[in-house]
Amino acid sequence: MSDRKFGFDTLQVHAGQKPDPTTGARAVPIYQTTSFVFKDFAAAQGISSGEMAGYDYTRIINPTNEVLENRIAALEGGSGALAVASGSAATAYSILNITHTGDNIVAAKTLYGGSFNLFVNTLPKHGVTTSLVDPRDAGNFELAIDARTKAIFVETIGNPDINIVDFDAVAAIAAKHRIPLIVDNTFGTPFLFKPFEHGANVIVHSATKFIGGHGTSIGGLIVDGGNFDWASGKFPDFTTPDSAYSGFIHAQKWGNQGYIVKARLHYLRDFGACMSPFNAFLFLQGIETLSFRVERQVRNAQRVAEYLDGHPRVEWVNYPGLKSSPYYELGKKYLPKGPGSILTFGIKGGFEKVKRFIEGLELFSFLPNVGDSKSLVVHPATVTHGQLSEAEQRAAGVKPEQIRLSLGVEDIDDILWDLGQAFDKAGS
Ligand SMILES: *Cc1c(COP(=O)(O)O)cnc(C)c1O
Repeated sequence: MSDRKFGFDTLQVHAGQKPDPTTGARAVPIYQTTSFVFKDFAAAQGISSGEMAGYDYTRIINPTNEVLENRIAALEGGSGALAVASGSAATAYSILNITHTGDNIVAAKTLYGGSFNLFVNTLPKHGVTTSLVDPRDAGNFELAIDARTKAIFVETIGNPDINIVDFDAVAAIAAKHRIPLIVDNTFGTPFLFKPFEHGANVIVHSATKFIGGHGTSIGGLIVDGGNFDWASGKFPDFTTPDSAYSGFIHAQKWGNQGYIVKARLHYLRDFGACMSPFNAFLFLQGIETLSFRVERQVRNAQRVAEYLDGHPRVEWVNYPGLKSSPYYELGKKYLPKGPGSILTFGIKGGFEKVKRFIEGLELFSFLPNVGDSKSLVVHPATVTHGQLSEAEQRAAGVKPEQIRLSLGVEDIDDILWDLGQAFDKAGS
């Protein structure tokens, strides 16, 4: 093809795919196979050692997954990507790929509950600790950095505070200390926010959410920005011969894909949380309509936020699309198409009202997910952040009266009707 730079809507249906060379199939075929036949001994030797491109075993590489990887890399503007079994695996591998025992990372304290647990409870058992900082002041990230800090980790839109960090300021701090900025862009989506254009170096996604978009599959993606110098000396795994893989020096061997190839060769190969090709196929179906769904979901979220704001039974609303939000300006700057479709609000009357309101909803589904084309509701203090201690919940911005909505693509009149009748059932 010519070197035209295609737009997002074009890329989301075409990038990373050529019609199947064997059959001409227009849709991406599901290569549901564990392994691939080697043409000859040279191929067996070359592919197994990583010296030759090709397929051998689906835990490490698969043609269906590869289309998804190339598509998300194109949509994010990265140099390469890796599909894994879940967003949680993506987050874990993104850190493990660059840390050793004794290292640490600095992260915003407003994190997805699972990431919070990974950083605070699980990774420390393996020698990697996390300093959690208040992200409202970007300077806090710098204060927490020491000689063993290997990354800064933030989410595009924090949850449940629905907060936005000053990406340019945080990226400048990361660059100054020659450490990568890793952004969990799950709530942002590549349609609303482009982390690599704001200095991020690695992106992780829970594809489970907006990328899948239909609540059918668990999956995760890691995207390499191809824009970080791994050869500075801070990351010995990238500059010393790899004893586990043909003596490769990853920072030299793979051009601007050193990070993502190493994640595949070490963590996908050894820890094995690979995505099933069938799930990759479903994510590809989802991704084809990503921009259309998200556009509608953002519009619905804005309308719902305006409806809740000033509602007599509502204490407060967190949504950066409201002028009253402390993140309104940051939202306008970094997410000009809209600050996502997830919001939280506090209902007057505390937990008893929370229960009656949520159980009274008819269209919204009460479950722990976001980004579905169906509208969803959850009580973070019970569910998504339920495993955290009270102090940890407070630190993460979780409150007992807080309700989280993830807006779907339904008719806005029906969504507003459902909220109204649930408020009536909850009583004043
Ligand atoms: C859901 C989610 C994850 C974890 O993803 P899974 O696919 O459930 O493992 C990570 N980060 C964010 C922001 C999420 O919403």
